[in-house]
Amino acid sequence: MKENRFYAAPGKRFRLKDYDPADTGKYKSHAHAKKTLDDNIERLQRYQDLLFSGNSYSLLIILQAMDAAGKDGTIKHVMSGVNPAGCEVSAFKQPSQQELDHDFLWRCYKELPERGMIGIFSRSYYEEVLVVRVHPKFLDAERLPGFGGPDETFWKHRFQAINDMEKHLVRNGTVILKFFLHLSKEEQARRFLGRIEDPGKNWKFSDADLEERLRWDDYMACYEDMINHTSTKHAGWYVIPADSKWFTHLCVSDIIVETLKGLKLKYPSVSAEQKERLQAAREALGRK
Ligand code: ATP
Ligand code: MG
Repeated sequence: MKENRFYAAPGKRFRLKDYDPADTGKYKSHAHAKKTLDDNIERLQRYQDLLFSGNSYSLLIILQAMDAAGKDGTIKHVMSGVNPAGCEVSAFKQPSQQELDHDFLWRCYKELPERGMIGIFSRSYYEEVLVVRVHPKFLDAERLPGFGGPDETFWKHRFQAINDMEKHLVRNGTVILKFFLHLSKEEQARRFLGRIEDPGKNWKFSDADLEERLRWDDYMACYEDMINHTSTKHAGWYVIPADSKWFTHLCVSDIIVETLKGLKLKYPSVSAEQKERLQAAREALGRK
């Protein structure tokens, strides 16, 4: 998938302005993309079965985005064909006191997918170089010894810790896919208004969302720096256009399916001895 045009290639300077949130590629409408999307969902179902039966690799999918960019909808649509027994979603919100009593990777590390499983992180340890960087006051609650305030080195060390941990996971069989759902500020306003005007969606809106929106440019600078420092050969970032929900679903499903395909997964092979036992079981069940 490294040739995917939404891939933020490691080693190449990443600039957010080179990526258009309204991009829909060669597709003009949802109807136009529907067949490919449906195919992807079906293919994902088959690959998940292989992943689960192989019980060797695991797949970690990380979703990061501004509010209303469609993290939940992406999970709901892209995973709609997947066996729930092989998939686990973890959402990371403001850390609890117990979580703050540990290092910043701890709470996510505990939720990593087991072999054979797909784990989806809706937000992740990347919040520690995003919301925490935009609001450094959150660091007070982390009570880091000898901490004198966040400087460039502090954030570099966080990027380094993340890269090292991800490399370790990849070496041990976790495939990592990281998606930044790239929404425009204008589309976010439209979606917020939709949530305010539709009583059925009121519950989705919070005043805090509006406050974070005021810091839009700061967030974008943090996202850009984060991608520049943590898009690595072993775990690269994909910057997915998010102004059209159906195109987001199409891109994300495409990348997941192609990545799983690239693993060349096979059902576990059956030994001659197992075949004999299967035949004996067959006969015991009344078949010759
Ligand atoms: P949705 O709004 O779709 O339900 P969400 O992921 O935005 O999903 P919220 O409960 O609205 O969930 O917000 C969670 C908030 O927690 C976000 O503003 C996020 O930035 C914040 N958060 C996540 N991790 C941390 C962290 N480590 N430190 C401080 N805040 C965090
Ligand atoms: Mg929210």
